[in-house]
Amino acid sequence: MSTTDVRNIQFIDLKTQQARIRESVEARIQKVLDHGRYIMGPEIKEVEALLADYTGTKHCITCASGTDALLMPLMAYGVGPGDAVITTPFTFFSTAEMISLLGATPIFCDIDPVTYNIDPAGLEKALNSPKVREEGLNVRGIIPVDLFGQSADYTEIEAFAKAHNLFVMEDAAQSFGAEYQGRKLCSFGDVATTSFFPAKPLGCYGDGGAIFTDDDELAEKLVSIRVHGKGHHKYDNIRIGINGRFDTMQAAVILAKMEIFDDEIPLRDRVAARYNQLLADKVKTPVVKDDRTSVWAQYCILSDDREGTISRLKEHGVPTAIYYPLPLHLQTAYRYLGYQKGDFPNCEYAADHIFSLPMHPYLDEETQDYIVAAFG
Ligand SMILES: *Cc1c(COP(=O)(O)O)cnc(C)c1O
Repeated sequence: MSTTDVRNIQFIDLKTQQARIRESVEARIQKVLDHGRYIMGPEIKEVEALLADYTGTKHCITCASGTDALLMPLMAYGVGPGDAVITTPFTFFSTAEMISLLGATPIFCDIDPVTYNIDPAGLEKALNSPKVREEGLNVRGIIPVDLFGQSADYTEIEAFAKAHNLFVMEDAAQSFGAEYQGRKLCSFGDVATTSFFPAKPLGCYGDGGAIFTDDDELAEKLVSIRVHGKGHHKYDNIRIGINGRFDTMQAAVILAKMEIFDDEIPLRDRVAARYNQLLADKVKTPVVKDDRTSVWAQYCILSDDREGTISRLKEHGVPTAIYYPLPLHLQTAYRYLGYQKGDFPNCEYAADHIFSLPMHPYLDEETQDYIVAAFG
C-alpha cells in the first residue's frame, strides 16, 4: 500500500468545496461590503426565500445557530418549568440542552438500533415514564433528530404526537437536503430546525441556523423572539426574546453554497454506496430505510474492535471521529435526571461501538480505496 499523496486525508474537505464556489463567495461578500447592511441585510430575506422554497415550507426564519433554532420555537411554545419534552439520548448535546435551559425536563426515549433515530415504539414508555408521573410533568412535545443525515420515522411520530396533543420539532441539523417519503426534511412536524455549522451538510463559514414552519402565528413569534421579543414598535418589546439573528455575511455564504448543493448530494451518496460495498465484510455498515434518503452528515460504522480499528486507521493517516461516545443520559450535566447505565440499551450499544469515517462529496475513489485498505 502506497502512502504517497494520502497523508493529508480530510475528514470533511471544505477546501475542495471552497475552490468550486470561491468566486461566488467572494462576489457575494463583496456585495455585502458594498451595501453595508451587516445586520439583517437583503441576503437574509433572499436566503430565507430560497430555503423555504427548497424545503417546501411556508416560512424560513434564519437565526444565529442550530442551537438557537432549537431554543426559539421552545420559547415560542412557552415551554418551561413543569413541562417535559421527549427526545433521543443519542444526539448532539444542544437538542436536550435547550429543553433544560428553559427549565423544562428532557425525557429520553431509546433509539432504533438500525437508523440510530428515536424509536417510535418507545414513545409510549417515555410519555408514561415514572419521572413524568412522579413529578407531575406536562409533556408538551417531541424532538426527533434526523441523525447522521437520515430522517426519523415521521409517520409514526406525527401520529403519536397527534393522539397525545404534542408538538413535534424536527431537529434536522444534520439532514438538510435529505428526503422522507419523497418530501424534503425540514418540512416535518410542526416546526423544524437546522444548523449551518461549517461541517454540516449545508454549512456556512461561521455559526448559523434556520427554523422552518407552515404555522403563520409561530413564524411571527419567532421573528419577534429573534430580536429581543420586538413588537411593531422598536422600543416596545412585547415578549422576552434573544439576539438570535443570522449574520448577513454568512447568508451570502449559504447563497453560494446552495448553487452547488444539489450537485453534492449524489456525490455524497456515491461515496457512501462505495463504502457500503467495500466494507460490507469488515464492519457493520449503515442502513438507510427504503422510504428515505440520507445526506450523509456522517458515515458511521459499528465495530467490535473500535479502538483497535481506529488506531490502525490512524497509523495510516486516516482520521476518524466518534459520534457520540457518551449518550446524553449518562453525561455529567444530566446526572440530576437520575438515569442509569442500562436505561437505553440500543443507544448505549451504539455509543460503545460506533465511529465515523471521512465523508464528503469530494472523496475520490483512490483515497477511499486507501482508507478501506487501512482496515487490513
Ligand atoms: C450541530 C447540531 C446542533 C447544534 O447546531 P449549532 O449550529 O452547532 O448550534 C443541534 N442538533 C444536532 C443534532 C446537531 O448535530
